[in-house]
Amino acid sequence: MPVISPSKTPMPVADAKERAKTFREVNFGYDPRRAMQEADRCLRCQDPTCQTGCPVNVPIREVIHLTSQRRFDDALALIKRFNSLPGVCGRVCPQENQCEGRCHVGDRFGPVGIGYIERFLADWERLHGSQPVEKAEPKGQKVAIVGSGPSGLTAAGDLNHMGYDVTVFEALHDAGGVLRYGIPEFRLPKDVLDDEINALVRAGVDIQCNVVFGKTLTLDQLMDEMGYEAVFIGTGAGLPRFMNLPGENLNGIYSSNEFLTRINLMGAYRFPDYDTPVKSGRRVAVIGAGNTAMDAARCAMRAGSEEVTVVYRRSEAEMTARVEEYEHAIEEGVQFKWLNNPIEFIDDGNGWVSGMRCQRMELGEPDEDGRRRPVPVPDSEFVLDVNNVIVSIGTSPNPLLSRTTPGLDTTKWGGLVAEDDTGQTSREGVFAGGDIVTGSATVILAAGAGKRAASAIDTYLSQKRGEAAEA
Ligand code: FAD
Ligand code: SF4
Repeated sequence: MPVISPSKTPMPVADAKERAKTFREVNFGYDPRRAMQEADRCLRCQDPTCQTGCPVNVPIREVIHLTSQRRFDDALALIKRFNSLPGVCGRVCPQENQCEGRCHVGDRFGPVGIGYIERFLADWERLHGSQPVEKAEPKGQKVAIVGSGPSGLTAAGDLNHMGYDVTVFEALHDAGGVLRYGIPEFRLPKDVLDDEINALVRAGVDIQCNVVFGKTLTLDQLMDEMGYEAVFIGTGAGLPRFMNLPGENLNGIYSSNEFLTRINLMGAYRFPDYDTPVKSGRRVAVIGAGNTAMDAARCAMRAGSEEVTVVYRRSEAEMTARVEEYEHAIEEGVQFKWLNNPIEFIDDGNGWVSGMRCQRMELGEPDEDGRRRPVPVPDSEFVLDVNNVIVSIGTSPNPLLSRTTPGLDTTKWGGLVAEDDTGQTSREGVFAGGDIVTGSATVILAAGAGKRAASAIDTYLSQKRGEAAEA
């Protein structure tokens, strides 16, 4: 092994005390010197296992090599052949479980900072202007994409690139899905997201917001009356789950979706400049320990709460949040109560929550998914004083679409049944992918599903074109 620095080139970050009061981005990003220094840590392996860890199969070794040669435009152009959202993915992908988790340098040292390099390249393009995207000859066939999250945007970008006439229909007033309404500004600035969406629009993708599929428009209308020959459904899993505990309807208890949507989509952190307020009391409890819980806790700190505690029924080892978000949350002052489970919410006498009764837990035998099951410790109840609670224990798909669309097979938990390799659903010409098929997952897995479906849609529509030509 050549001599390489044992740890990643550090990412400059905002001071923890300062940043915990503002929504400005926490990570500042690499400059060219840092990006090239980090790229020099790559071994250019014969078997680049990093690439096999990437759900959209970016040729990471080649991207890093181009970066080390200061060929930033070429490096980004190469990424973009595989991923239309590099500025987003460079910021929010759980690289530790994907590309970086399989990097050979990581066998002995800190892995190559692939995510940091990807982010640098995307930001470089934003600063220095983008290269024009080549587009195939128009195919004369229309494809509809329902939902503008990473799965829908990726499918739209790929199909547009192949020459299809693509329209994205989005229920909310702005595009981006969870990237817009869930992930906060301090992790993913909205101008980064806007730039990546605008690049798709400039390339020819039409995005129509405020269209609630299943209500404003149906699948049959799209296909029978409006001339769309294929549809991709990427409507995500945005319906919050609750625990059904006594007192859960009290004022001051939010789902993380509502709390984050108020802040991120409706601009509540800029209230009264924006119309939507958000209440984040002096003491806040966030229930759950995934990315969503971490975002809610860090937003509550920034919205002025003095004490924010994440309460989780399992231990730190079972937490599903990205490591970087967890570390940043600790630095910003978020507290953690592992192995504690809420069992009741207490009324202050005026209909507002004032406390959360909890029970201590210990870990028992592994359950079906291999994680050790939390088991209550007898006589261990206590009350946590709180003014707000944010419930962040997961989400499921909104049933609107499947209820109003005949012929679509669904799972027990309300997701759509679709083939893994193609996204093909039980209806001809209808494909699906992302959280609506897998349940809550990650941005890049959703993007990967959008990519596979785009390729399958191309195959399907090519066959149709062939049949039409023969007839
Ligand atoms: P979504 O992003 O959910 O987008 C679906 C879109 O469809 C939405 O815009 C919705 O409004 C629209 N829609 C729904 N129903 C209809 C309808 N009937 N008609 C029209 N439009 C409709 N993943 C990571 O990799 N890293 C992270 O750091 C990370 N952090 C997260 C933080 C939060 C707060 C949350 C909630 C999730 C996070 N995730 C993260 C998970 C990731 O964001 C999702 O897995 C991903 O966004 C799923 O993409 P999608 O395209 O399937 O759906
Ligand atoms: Fe470079 Fe790591 Fe990929 Fe090897 S596995 S090519 S060292 S990034």
